Amino acid sequence: RAKETGRNTFQFYAAAMNEAALQRVRLEKHLRNALERGEFTLQYQPQVDLHSGRIVGVEALLRWQHPELGAVAPDKFIGLAEETGLIVPIGAWIIRTACAQNKAWQRAGLAPIRMAVNLSARQFAQRDLVKSVARVLEETGLAPEYLDIELTETIIMSAVEDTIAVLNDFKALGVQLSIDDFGTGYSSLAYLQRFPIDVLKIDRAFVHDITHAIDNGAIANAIIAMAHSLGIEVIAEGVETEAQCEILSRNMCDEIQGYWFSRPTSHEAIGRMLEEGKCIPAHLLRSQGRQR
Ligand code: C2E
Ligand code: MG
Ligand code: MG
Ligand code: MG
Repeated sequence: RAKETGRNTFQFYAAAMNEAALQRVRLEKHLRNALERGEFTLQYQPQVDLHSGRIVGVEALLRWQHPELGAVAPDKFIGLAEETGLIVPIGAWIIRTACAQNKAWQRAGLAPIRMAVNLSARQFAQRDLVKSVARVLEETGLAPEYLDIELTETIIMSAVEDTIAVLNDFKALGVQLSIDDFGTGYSSLAYLQRFPIDVLKIDRAFVHDITHAIDNGAIANAIIAMAHSLGIEVIAEGVETEAQCEILSRNMCDEIQGYWFSRPTSHEAIGRMLEEGKCIPAHLLRSQGRQR
């Protein structure tokens, strides 16, 4: 009887694994065609300055709309795109589209903002990465200071010597460098000091905790204070409530990004926000915080 159960369990797992493997193959097939079929778009999420209350940047986030699968979330396909190397052509499209969009807002007469683009490990390993980014800037006419490259701790921690060289090349080009999801990896801020980083993005897990009694903002506060002592600015990710914004503002965080201000949205919607001057209420700004 135990044997019987064991066999059934095995068959169950084998079937489940087969199904997973099949799904992966199917997804990969669709992913291979997605770029040329024009199934990708970018959405943009505002990054808002806590001094002025204004939008000073946006992060470009990839969206995939498949005719049968519907909307596929990045978490479901970015990993596969990396494993298959498809992220390289897709990533090139992302950088070009994002830079062209930012230039288009500037041409329309809107106040210039930064465009943040996520880079994957696989792209980072491309030998001509910095050159190809330089070419995109030249072709789109976007000044380098308005491009912000987001890297994760994991990318920075791997192949350290090469990494420093690539980051230095990016800095020489004049783009901004940010560390994404900070706090989820294993690097310490002291270690990161070796890299020419401009901005650190506190992962939303820590932002989520700041209104909870046990943490009470201690971790976020410590990250902000240490980053500032190293001359690095801080963006808090995943800010979902006014209460979180208020604590971050009081703790001298530089910028916030999250659903509370705006979900990732279309370029048209961002254009309208910039035009209308959508901003954070004055009582939540850092200058107000100091007077309290
Ligand atoms: P990420 O770079 O850390 O991007 C932030 C993610 O948090 C986005 O998820 C965004 O929609 C989400 N988010 C923003 N505000 C809030 C909030 O207030 N609450 C919550 N719960 N979530 C919020 P998304 O767009 O699903 O992307 C997930 C991840 O996929 C990204 O994390 C990034 O690692 C990757 N990704 C997205 N677009 C690209 C891309 O163009 N290239 C690469 N290489 N990776 C990308
Ligand atoms: Mg990011
Ligand atoms: Mg992040
Ligand atoms: Mg992430």
